[in-house]
Amino acid sequence: MSVNKISYQNIIGQLNNKTTLVAVSKIKPIEDILALYNLGQKDFGENYVQELVDKQSQLPTAIRWHFIGHLQSNKVKYIAPFVHLIHGVDSFKLLQEINKQAAKNNRIIKCLLQVHIAQETTKFGFGLNELNDLSMLQNLPNIQVVGLMAMASFSEDKQLVRNEFKQLKKLFDTLKIAQPQFSILSMGMSDDYTIALEEGSTMIRIGSLLFGKRN
Ligand SMILES: *Cc1c(COP(=O)(O)O)cnc(C)c1O
Repeated sequence: MSVNKISYQNIIGQLNNKTTLVAVSKIKPIEDILALYNLGQKDFGENYVQELVDKQSQLPTAIRWHFIGHLQSNKVKYIAPFVHLIHGVDSFKLLQEINKQAAKNNRIIKCLLQVHIAQETTKFGFGLNELNDLSMLQNLPNIQVVGLMAMASFSEDKQLVRNEFKQLKKLFDTLKIAQPQFSILSMGMSDDYTIALEEGSTMIRIGSLLFGKRN
């Protein structure tokens, strides 16, 4: 199997009981997901709607599917019946659509707001100052916004990455005062998860360390 068991156990060993590992399986085959599932992993993350829908239909229903990619409003309906947590919500328009599709499925869907902390201009998300007023969340009964998600800069500069995680944690703590249901801070990937954990991440999203590099 092409799952790195040693790496998996090493990562699991660094988590406390409030921290979750999401295994990012995008582009990887069903067999790899099943191999990791059989080692005890339950949370998996995917970036593409069609790929997620295909995989979900073939894999155990006990898997909790996280959508971590950029989600287009017109595709929400395909994942609304089963998705466990949507990480990358980057507009209020998208939240409204998720609310609508969740209602159709008689569900409450958990979401994270994506925050733009990295220096790269291409990354999606709300600016650090755009989340001051979250009163609109009250009118969306079929979603529950449970925290924030972000990607740090893709950089060798560890201090830069650490500072970005620190900023995000500070924003999370501030917002949590008015939003007591905030419990998830999704930050940290293969290259920076140890820093993210030190800075207060409660959910790391790891792909290549578990499944090998993607082409
Ligand atoms: C692909 C991806 C990951 C995992 O990246 P690795 O570097 O392979 O661990 C995590 N989060 C998001 C949003 C991704 O798109």
